[in-house]
Amino acid sequence: MFCNCTWHRRDFLKLAGGASTLAALGAPAALAQGASGKGRGRAAGGLPARGEYLIRAGHVLTMDPVLGDLPAGDVHVRNGTIVAVGPRLAAPGARVVDARDRIVMPGFIDTHWHLWCTALRLAIRADDPQEGYFPTTIRVGRHCTPQDAYAGVRLGVVEGLLSGITTVHDWSHNTVTPEHADAEIQALKDMGVRARFSYGAGQGHAADRPMNFADLARVKQQWMSSDGMLGIGACLRTPGPGGTRGAISVELFRSEFEGIRKLGLPMTIHCGPKNLIDLMGRNELLGPDMLLVHPQGMTPGELKMVGDTKSPYSIAPVIEMSYSAVRNGTIQYSELNALGVPLGLSVDASAATNADFFNVMRARMWSEWQRTGAPLRLKPRRLVELATLEGARLLGIADKVGSLSAGKRADLILVRTADINMAPMGDPYYALAFQGQPANVDTVMVDGRVLVRGGRLAHADVARVVKEAGESARGILARAARG
Ligand SMILES: [Zn+2]
Repeated sequence: MFCNCTWHRRDFLKLAGGASTLAALGAPAALAQGASGKGRGRAAGGLPARGEYLIRAGHVLTMDPVLGDLPAGDVHVRNGTIVAVGPRLAAPGARVVDARDRIVMPGFIDTHWHLWCTALRLAIRADDPQEGYFPTTIRVGRHCTPQDAYAGVRLGVVEGLLSGITTVHDWSHNTVTPEHADAEIQALKDMGVRARFSYGAGQGHAADRPMNFADLARVKQQWMSSDGMLGIGACLRTPGPGGTRGAISVELFRSEFEGIRKLGLPMTIHCGPKNLIDLMGRNELLGPDMLLVHPQGMTPGELKMVGDTKSPYSIAPVIEMSYSAVRNGTIQYSELNALGVPLGLSVDASAATNADFFNVMRARMWSEWQRTGAPLRLKPRRLVELATLEGARLLGIADKVGSLSAGKRADLILVRTADINMAPMGDPYYALAFQGQPANVDTVMVDGRVLVRGGRLAHADVARVVKEAGESARGILARAARG
């Protein structure tokens, strides 16, 4: 809720008309401009300006172990930086944001999300072996153009922002060409979200062909930003026996691992296949720069390897209770947590589910409850910590975001607590974990820019984003049907 209504309305109208021009064209800006070299890395512009804000009298969950919670606290933000957090702050000249009846907290941090395929949700049927998430994305991935990648990433990010997600890890396992990489990154930048883009191989990329190291180096050089808004990483394909779908040889896996490490980039890999952790551990391929995904089906020896190497793990509970559970069993959260392994949460595939991070927390809570049989060992505060500060640690950005304290960048959300599904609120962590939903997200600020106000996106036309994503998905499916 903003006190300065004149500013609110004027600014909103200006942005609704003029923002994200290139995004509105539905084409990657870099491609549309035909630009080359360094200039291609520039954001399309059109994002709301940073300013000075005093977020006043909210129930502030700083997630900072020293600052703790402030039931009626203020957050002062100037030019994207949190200047102060505390009760009754003075900030003459700052725009006042009335945060009464709101939780003020760090934005959610996603640690693994295949954004490119978001719009394909219109074709995915989980109960049909031919039309499920995997067969669909594998079948149609190569028919996805850079423009389609842009439309899919933009759709997912917009859904994420409206759900309170301020950082995404774009796990691009369909980087078909350099233009696809540029298009995905352009969508991330146009939407103003903080991100890591992890470069991968396209769907259908030959299992004996290395990934495109030269282009990965170009992307790093061209796009990685010093302002902390965009990090670059790489997705590894899964090694395995010949004939396994998409699996590559251990030799190629090692050479890709070494090539990426030489570039100084963090890596990530899906850990579905049995004994993969054992293979990686024996080949000394685990470590803090290797973000593992799907903690399921590990032997005690494999768990020890992960613990000894402090390899971080991303948990995607919704997918791990559905698609991934079928093959790999329950989520080994408590074992990894006891070993001190860095853990975070993720959406994984909003084409198969959605980008509701409240639901991600809840799925983790319920799956743990069912597994242990004991009432609520995984507490709501820990869930919120996993969804914010721990996610930032996983992505190596906890010095910038993940908690609300002076000196950090202002990635924060306001969640309404007087809404019908939240009121009357007792413990704010219980309210978030048990009752919260994206519809309660009132305000989203990323790096000091207010991207969502009153539950509405400030810088792009959502109806148009949805329309163009639908057209894109139908086009991909039509081309795939023609073969
Ligand atoms: Zn995944």
